[in-house]
Amino acid sequence: MDDAHRIEIPTPFDVGRVNCYVFAGGPLTLVDPGPATDAAYEELAAGLEDLGYAVADVEQVLITHPHMDHFGLANRVVDVSGAAAVAHRDATRQLRDPDGHLDREQALFRPFLTAMGVPEQVVETAVTLPDAYTEYQEPLAVDRELTDDDPVDAGVDLRAVHTPGHAPGSVCFVAERGPVAFTGDHVLDHISPNPLLTVAPGTDDERTRSLPAYLDALDRLQAVDADVGRPGHGDDVSDLSARIDEIRDHHHERKEHIADLIDERGTATAYDLMGELFPDLPATEVFPGMSEIIGHLDLLEDEGRVDVTETDGVRRYALD
Ligand SMILES: [Zn+2]
Ligand SMILES: [Zn+2]
Repeated sequence: MDDAHRIEIPTPFDVGRVNCYVFAGGPLTLVDPGPATDAAYEELAAGLEDLGYAVADVEQVLITHPHMDHFGLANRVVDVSGAAAVAHRDATRQLRDPDGHLDREQALFRPFLTAMGVPEQVVETAVTLPDAYTEYQEPLAVDRELTDDDPVDAGVDLRAVHTPGHAPGSVCFVAERGPVAFTGDHVLDHISPNPLLTVAPGTDDERTRSLPAYLDALDRLQAVDADVGRPGHGDDVSDLSARIDEIRDHHHERKEHIADLIDERGTATAYDLMGELFPDLPATEVFPGMSEIIGHLDLLEDEGRVDVTETDGVRRYALD
């Protein structure tokens, strides 16, 4: 297959463990070392030791996307080993300065969520929650910036497929042999990856249109025709193409459901729709929940099916 070993690294997050993949047939290469915790470092070191290596032997660290459960530990690995850090160019600014990225997100999403109908107190909680997690990531200087289709030598020939949507600068690494795709959080077996909103790469104050980008990237990955997906969390995806179809169908159904909800109400804010679709959402889930709703509203907008009006600074959606 692809000759990659999987080390399941613990995280302090609800998602559970994160998969770190190790290629030992050439330059010793890791895909996603995990979050910046001592527990993660110890399990990584133990997993490498089982394979006959030490952290100091790592030569290359590949990052699938700039989320702390995947890249947080990378800087420590690079410090110990002198490994080269490799990530997509749209991820490098966030990786280099994750705190600055969070500041930009907070400045952008406070007014944005308010305009989407979210009450002030809920906005504040949703926007400041990530402050509690900054300790799980260390800034990472990227040595090699990837663009779509770039080759990466990990002993096996890998190719980077740019798959933004869950995060900007997300890449899947496709091993020519198999073919097998290392999918990060772009495709998971049991979870439908969230099209999280964030600051668009290369801007300070524009948001991503994450779900339209995500669906385009699903098409791009499916075109690679890999058989198996090796995801950032959980077990292998045994039929990658079928799983991509499932995720696409799920979003299509949800989009139609949201269109029906708008139809029933006449007009609705994104926050109204989130309340209908996900009642009693805990504060920790408001940002992902709003990302999900707004992603589907973006799709309906792109299809010319909704009208957006703004009164008193609040945006309302109606069917066209
Ligand atoms: Zn992620
Ligand atoms: Zn993740």
